[in-house]
Amino acid sequence: MKQIKEERTLVLVKPDGVMRGLTGEVIKRIERRGLKVVALKMVQVDRKHLEDHFPKEDSWMERLGEKGLKTFAEYKIDPKEHMGTDDKKQIGKIVKDSLFEYMTSGPIVALVIEGIHAIDMVRKLAGNTLPVFAEMGTVRGDFSVDSPAVANVEKRAIKNIMHASETPEEAANEIDLWFDKDEIHDYQRAEQSVAFDA
Ligand code: GDP
Ligand code: MG
Repeated sequence: MKQIKEERTLVLVKPDGVMRGLTGEVIKRIERRGLKVVALKMVQVDRKHLEDHFPKEDSWMERLGEKGLKTFAEYKIDPKEHMGTDDKKQIGKIVKDSLFEYMTSGPIVALVIEGIHAIDMVRKLAGNTLPVFAEMGTVRGDFSVDSPAVANVEKRAIKNIMHASETPEEAANEIDLWFDKDEIHDYQRAEQSVAFDA
């Protein structure tokens, strides 16, 4: 049980989130849910750091391309006309390059969040990757309106305020990459004993 209660995930308030003054809003929503901030810092990263952060497999780049193509189809936009290709690999590559540009465009606030099902809980409160599909009540649904149908054509990344690890493996790698062991802290949330302890 202890393991589930202490699940950890990495959250990043991306440069657009920081520049829009939404750092506090993101942290407030995480803390309100009962999840605990156990590490926090502001950093400016370079491309090398991002190479280690995002998955290296080609399949990840293809997935990025696929997501974009799906939105194009939904809004009846011709990818060939707007991007010069309808190949998911090539679109994925364009998206990856623009993502690196976006993530190095300003400081990022990085956090380690701990708590019950922390990975899924934070993904849920972040909302769908593509703000145009994100539900109201989520960070992305409440504060952004971006769509790949626009972003891909403008050759820039989707601006969606925050990042959150997707799987336990991703979380472990990302936490290792962004934080030293002694930057992660241990303390009790005061309401824990009433809300979810025996
Ligand atoms: P996340 O885990 O929800 O952040 O989504 P992914 O891991 O699939 O993608 C990483 C980031 O790439 C997203 O948060 C967006 O900033 C950007 N991105 C994802 N899909 C697209 C897309 O189809 N087009 C563009 N332009 N950017 C995208
Ligand atoms: Mg991801």
